[in-house]
Amino acid sequence: MSKPAPSLHEKLNQLRERFIEQLPARLERTAELWQQRCTSTEEQMRLAPELHRFFHSLKGTGRSLGFERLALLADKAEIALTAVPARPDIDSYIPQLLQQLRSEEQHLRSHHGQQQALAAVNSFEFTNHTESLRNRRQRLIYLCDDEPEQVSHLVHHLRCFDHEVVHFTDTEAFFNATLTRCPDAVIMDVHFPQGQTAGTETLTSLNKLTGKPLTAIVLSAYGDFQSRLSAVRAGCEGYFTKPVKPLDLMLAVDELIAPATEEPLKVLIVDDEPEVAAYHALLLEEDGMITQQVHHPADALNAMERFSPDLLLVDVYMPVCSGEELATIIRQQPEHVGLPIIYLSSETDSQKQVSAMAAGVEAFLTKPVTPEVLVSAVRLRAERLRLLRSLMTRDSMTGLYNHSTTTELINKTLAHAHREDSQHAMAMIDIDHFKQVNDTYGHLAGDQVIITLARLLKSRLRLSDIIGRYGGEEFVVLLKGINAEKAAGLIDGLREDFSQVDFHAGDVRFRCTFSAGIGSFPAQPSTDSLRLSADKALYRAKEQGRNQVVISTEFANER
Ligand code: GH3
Ligand code: MG
Ligand code: MG
Repeated sequence: MSKPAPSLHEKLNQLRERFIEQLPARLERTAELWQQRCTSTEEQMRLAPELHRFFHSLKGTGRSLGFERLALLADKAEIALTAVPARPDIDSYIPQLLQQLRSEEQHLRSHHGQQQALAAVNSFEFTNHTESLRNRRQRLIYLCDDEPEQVSHLVHHLRCFDHEVVHFTDTEAFFNATLTRCPDAVIMDVHFPQGQTAGTETLTSLNKLTGKPLTAIVLSAYGDFQSRLSAVRAGCEGYFTKPVKPLDLMLAVDELIAPATEEPLKVLIVDDEPEVAAYHALLLEEDGMITQQVHHPADALNAMERFSPDLLLVDVYMPVCSGEELATIIRQQPEHVGLPIIYLSSETDSQKQVSAMAAGVEAFLTKPVTPEVLVSAVRLRAERLRLLRSLMTRDSMTGLYNHSTTTELINKTLAHAHREDSQHAMAMIDIDHFKQVNDTYGHLAGDQVIITLARLLKSRLRLSDIIGRYGGEEFVVLLKGINAEKAAGLIDGLREDFSQVDFHAGDVRFRCTFSAGIGSFPAQPSTDSLRLSADKALYRAKEQGRNQVVISTEFANER
């Protein structure tokens, strides 16, 4: 059996241990600096900033990790070093503080075990509501139904959209399975052979037993009040009368368990203190966010380019360049103008906070920050940016990237690909005879087809692939890291599944197909030539009878 991942408390304790381990070396280095400083006025001037920085970061890190006494001593030293005029006894005062810091360090070393238990209990009581939702896209659905035709129909549609479906024909098997492995949603036909109410009764007892309600949708032949009421009482969130349209059912399932399909928020942490950066990263990751840490401000821009964060968490006080200066550099670049920046600092002087905010920073948090405050400050601002960004970059009907964003993202990927010698494939996808679909079944039915194809692409391709709506019923996909043959195989699988999805216009049932053309990089070295070759292949697919995938045979030099 594999070892379980360390808990937040364990990870925090590792950080604290590492900090204590490094403490003697840090104190020694400071004592050395202090010695040198005492040799001449010149040395005093030269070493002042470094000494100040040492105590300042010791204060910040110490506080964040819960070493309050240590932080207090460091704070005293920092105040003494910056006081004007200097304290008359400074030459003995600092060594005295250093001595106290050393004893505190020894105290920590011998009492660390008890300390960590306390700190863990005090600081981290927040609930982990995202645990079960994190990093998962495929959903587990239990389908309880004993009508073979309806079942095969529903199973096909749900699997087509990447749900894992387990089918049950009796309540007992369903009951036991739920206790072993809890599903994301249950779809239940109330008419089980065990009797009219067997299904809802099973749900009720499962809910009682597990203490948390299952997400459930009921299928029933009856739409009367009493039937609906008993479903509501069993905690069901959806109710469909038969015959059920699989696509409607799928959308309902999507809606009930939607949040997980959202990409986690990404936060870049810039802090010269690795322990503090790691500590804040832990808190944010515990809430389901993805983080990256940078310990040198000079690396921040590169990291932003690679990681595309939704928010920057920046330490104000860093060597080389301050948080304010970094914020200004970032703000001077048009592509980062809207990026929220939160300052974190042990600076409590409100005048300094105001001047820091002038650099265009969204918020100023003082170390030590409580986990809840940090998480909610970050989440609020990052989510706001996500929303604004998505309004600008996504097509409102399908949620896919719009034309210009798709092109931009592909350009970027290809620019990297040239450097890294990787291969990619592009698929142009176009719905067949779509004009006819609109003419025969109406525009709304047509919209449904577009939305469904978009949903299919999103659920079956990788998160890293670029999926865009290029025009009306035309889509473009950049499949990263695979060659044309693999891409064609993948898209062909989607084509096959899509062709068997049932659409409904009123009571009329109809099906649709699409055609696709595949171009490949580096045979086609630019976005334009790639698009052109995929387009030509798509044209051939249409010409040869539609409902098929064709690979481009052209190479760049033939254009
Ligand atoms: P082919 O198989 O050759 O691709 O034929 P087609 O009919 O699909 O191609 P054509 O490009 O002639 O028609 C596309 C149609 O798509 C025309 C347009 O009215 C319709 N369309 C474009 N955007 C939307 C939309 O958002 N919703 C709906 N319902 N229809 C749209
Ligand atoms: Mg078309
Ligand atoms: Mg078209």
